[in-house]
Amino acid sequence: MDGLAGEVALVTGGNTGIGAAISTRLAAEGARVAIGHIEGADEAAALAERLSGDGPGCLAIACDVTDAASVGSAIDGIERDLGPVTILVNNAGILIRNEFLDIDESRWDRVLQVSLYGSYRCARAVVPGMLREGRGTIVNVGSELVDLGATMHAHYIAAKSGVVGLTRALARELGPRNIRVNAVAPGPTDTRMLDGERITPEFLETIPLGRIGSPQDIAGAVAFLCGDDSTWITGQVLRVNGGIAMG
Ligand code: NDP
Repeated sequence: MDGLAGEVALVTGGNTGIGAAISTRLAAEGARVAIGHIEGADEAAALAERLSGDGPGCLAIACDVTDAASVGSAIDGIERDLGPVTILVNNAGILIRNEFLDIDESRWDRVLQVSLYGSYRCARAVVPGMLREGRGTIVNVGSELVDLGATMHAHYIAAKSGVVGLTRALARELGPRNIRVNAVAPGPTDTRMLDGERITPEFLETIPLGRIGSPQDIAGAVAFLCGDDSTWITGQVLRVNGGIAMG
């Protein structure tokens, strides 16, 4: 598989969970991958070393998406060591469960800062380079909860709904410049973010395909949206969720 040879990808939160699967898949398809991390530096470095062994160079890079200076220096470092970023995967996210009246402004802000402002910040940092290259692909990671709604998640769902809006707006604005912008909306996926207590036999019966997702299920969809089989797809939300939500 070398469909992404010549591409340089930044995966935010690429050190663990879905992000690690995306980093692994993009590298397997030939991309040079910058694995963005905040605290998981050792994890990210080990993954970069493993992926570099399989193919083109990958690197671990500190990239706190809530901090414009951190994002800027990450992009500078990637451009210096790997080349201009042609693929951005806005995967970083946090999930905090709170009843609505317990969501004070600091909790609200914390969740939106990572998923929504972080996606905006990273896109704003890489688009100039993509414009210079004359091409680029951005994939934002949303959530099935945008379609389903959920209690205890008002801040998270507001952030992920914003990510969908950002995806569509940028797809319109950047399409004419050969930059595609799409989103993947995972359903319940087997990572540390998933609330294990939610996964009861009754819950699994609500999923037509009868199981939760693996990080690799999501990574496959992201790779599709980054590659040549999706060159006429932009502004879309690809739901990867076993059928639990259908849009
Ligand atoms: P994880 O908690 O395993 O991964 C989240 C990643 O985001 C981690 O790498 C984390 O870094 C990183 N991160 C958190 N805050 C920041 C920040 N300020 N700057 C940069 N990176 C940050 O969860 P998942 O892999 O499950 O989540 C990946 C994405 O998928 C998220 O956007 C999530 O909302 C979405 N999603 C997940 C679902 C699921 O069921 N798992 C369902 C629907 C959507 P660190 O390790 O250093 O903390």
